Amino acid sequence: MAVELTGAGVDWIHLDVMDGQFVPPITFGASLAAALHRIVPTPLEAHLMTLTPERHIESFVQAGCRRVVFQVEATAHSHRLVREIHSAGAKAGVALNPGTPVEAVRPLVTEVDMVLVMTVNPGWGGQEIVWPCLDKVRELRSWAPELEIEVDGGVTPATAPRILEAGATTLVTGSFLVSGGTVQERVAELREACGSKL
Ligand code: ZN
Repeated sequence: MAVELTGAGVDWIHLDVMDGQFVPPITFGASLAAALHRIVPTPLEAHLMTLTPERHIESFVQAGCRRVVFQVEATAHSHRLVREIHSAGAKAGVALNPGTPVEAVRPLVTEVDMVLVMTVNPGWGGQEIVWPCLDKVRELRSWAPELEIEVDGGVTPATAPRILEAGATTLVTGSFLVSGGTVQERVAELREACGSKL
């Protein structure tokens, strides 16, 4: 799959790391990221849907992840975490769940390299987008015109134009890529739906 993604020309490979605590499922750890890093040149991003994210930063950066994203709900020390990610040598992102007010990340917008707005509740693929989450994207965009804003959850060619219109700059998709045909075809279809905005 990773090789197919690289062949399809994606900009990043986004790794959903789930610990069975912050979200019910368990996916994988840093050793999988390291294995992918050995076989594909595409930059890797670790999305830590975990408790105690501070315990995992170092291992994912060492595994080759260029960006580490933590959930704002998972720590009481988000500023410190951003600095730890930077000093480990990676870019830092902060994610927020649909139920978390956007104000939770306001103090961080000048510190982080990216904010990830979850548009479904994390844990499972293939869910429908929670549209009111796009208001958070609009709010973030008004606070920080240059900020990279990533949207994760329910991204398809049908939803992508509205997501970009709200101010997002990066889209994460998983289930759509395996919804039929080849990964290359799905990526091309998504890019086409986004026009020149992506
Ligand atoms: Zn994710």
